[in-house]
Amino acid sequence: MIDIFARRSKVATRAIGMTDVLTPVQVRVFSDCEIRWFYQHLLAVPDPPTASMALDGAMRAALITNFRHKLACREDLQTQAVVELFRRAWQKLQQGVTFCDDEHPDRMGCIGEELVRIYMERAAPPIQPAAIEQRTMRGVLASVRIQAQFDILDEDGMIIAINTARNAPRGIEPMHRFELTTCYRLAAGASGVVRSDTLVNSESPQYVSQVWEINEADIQLTDALYPVAKEAMRRGYYLPNRGSVHCSLHQCPHWRRCEQDFGGVVEA
Ligand code: SF4
Repeated sequence: MIDIFARRSKVATRAIGMTDVLTPVQVRVFSDCEIRWFYQHLLAVPDPPTASMALDGAMRAALITNFRHKLACREDLQTQAVVELFRRAWQKLQQGVTFCDDEHPDRMGCIGEELVRIYMERAAPPIQPAAIEQRTMRGVLASVRIQAQFDILDEDGMIIAINTARNAPRGIEPMHRFELTTCYRLAAGASGVVRSDTLVNSESPQYVSQVWEINEADIQLTDALYPVAKEAMRRGYYLPNRGSVHCSLHQCPHWRRCEQDFGGVVEA
């Protein structure tokens, strides 16, 4: 169990080093649940990934491999080949997962295969990538050093993000918007049009695409949040947010540790 108060001075010292360069993903996690950020980035707690995280990783690995091939050869791989890439990645990634009672590896694998097929048939063909998973985008926003990464930048300068979710998005999630605004501000050649492709891994698998243009309010949010997040991360006290929509056995790999440290029950 964490002695939150006893650790405070050490944690604050470490946090100062950890926040020299921020990523939009870090800020999204921090704004969603501070203690999750603390476990992930400061304590580096080695909890096993959730099944949803492994499924997301396997689908993204297969699809990004397709777009790397397309970047070099200007054509997609055969859909069945991408499905096979997914199967291999899923076999590998599920080894480290502790499945919840209502999660079945074979059923989840079938849903993943169907989603990869849907994406390859409906979304992938018109995408002409100009860059894939650029890991080294760096810049300074509102005096804070930032590092970010996008999935795909197409030839028209549109940034495309591939995500997975358990439910179809009802709107554009604000912190996802924040992440893509950051990518737009750091990526050379970005047009300001961004697209979020969500693969919904439910019993009725579906693909939802949302396109929007970055506006002044989006820019203002990034300028405002990065400096505040940086200071808040350094303060040394972090709250669990059991009210977060991402706070569940299915979505948070740190739920066991969190229950030990704070009590209460994290629901499925
Ligand atoms: S279980 Fe919930 S409150 Fe605890 S770290 Fe995860 S998201 Fe935060």
